[in-house]
Amino acid sequence: MMICVECGSQVEELKRGLCLECYVQKYVDADIEDPIEIKLCSKCGSAKKGKKWLERPDLQSIMLDRIEDAISLSSSIDQFSYHVEFHEGDPRNIKVNVTIEMVVEDHIREKDLSSNIILKKDQCTNCSRREGNYYEAILQVRPSKKEMTEEQKKGVIRTVHKRIKEDKEKKRDIFITAEREIHGGLDFYLSDKMVSKNLSYDIADKFGGVVTTSSELAGREDGRNVYRMTYSVRLPPYEEGDFIGHQGMIYRIKNAKSGSDPVTVHDIKNDKITTLDKKKIKEAHIYGGEELIKKAVVVSEEENEIQVLDPETYDTKTLLKPEDHPPGKKEVEVIKVDERLVLIPQEKD
Ligand SMILES: [Zn+2]
Ligand SMILES: [Zn+2]
Repeated sequence: MMICVECGSQVEELKRGLCLECYVQKYVDADIEDPIEIKLCSKCGSAKKGKKWLERPDLQSIMLDRIEDAISLSSSIDQFSYHVEFHEGDPRNIKVNVTIEMVVEDHIREKDLSSNIILKKDQCTNCSRREGNYYEAILQVRPSKKEMTEEQKKGVIRTVHKRIKEDKEKKRDIFITAEREIHGGLDFYLSDKMVSKNLSYDIADKFGGVVTTSSELAGREDGRNVYRMTYSVRLPPYEEGDFIGHQGMIYRIKNAKSGSDPVTVHDIKNDKITTLDKKKIKEAHIYGGEELIKKAVVVSEEENEIQVLDPETYDTKTLLKPEDHPPGKKEVEVIKVDERLVLIPQEKD
């Protein structure tokens, strides 16, 4: 038997000359930081947890996390548990009491600790980047000729905004720094390279067109070169409903939004739906769209031919009649390309 120098009780084993109970009272200890700081973004209300900023934070759980981090314990402890009490009052300076139970072998020590949680105003990475007009990439959408149509512009803007909104919901650190109409097209300055790249391919798929990538040295950060990317989508020079000519044939574009796939067209002379690959499309001559279509009065009609009045000169012209052209029409639709009048068959699906 051995005798504890503190309380005099007889025990089998001593720790630092003490019985287990005296040892626990003397050497098993806990402490807490005071004050405990939590940084909140004064712009968007994000809270900093570790190195990260959390949007729409659950403040209660962040406070509990920070309290756990702020507690320090003697290394000899086998187990511990604690109970936290928050005191109402100043919302920027919250008083907390922590009752902590520490277990060594079968002895328990309880200790009451107290601290103050201070909510400090700061600016999150996102907000400070936003203020500094930060961007990693420019997404450009450009027409091949003239201007993008209003419909194209609206469609592209909708696609970009939708994607950014979805990513934000997944709590991704992403925003549009600037967007503008320029050179008949659109520019989006985005805070994230990958999203810009993915968006450029989405837009090329949806609206037709090809993507080109370029980069520019923007400076150095942490000893590394930082590049700013430009993803440029060149929209096709034609739109749905445009008439194009290729090797003596005349086609009407049925689906311009084919991405890299062949383009579906209506072969006007043979009244047939077919496809043209991108190479042929590139070689083709674009005559124009809807505005080319004129009504022509039918003068007479035979089995394979039809006579109409040229809507410009009023000369009688003989046109080939597509196979299933409905007979007995008083007027037909025509276009004039390369000084020739061509009958437009009914739209087919
Ligand atoms: Zn003792
Ligand atoms: Zn913020």
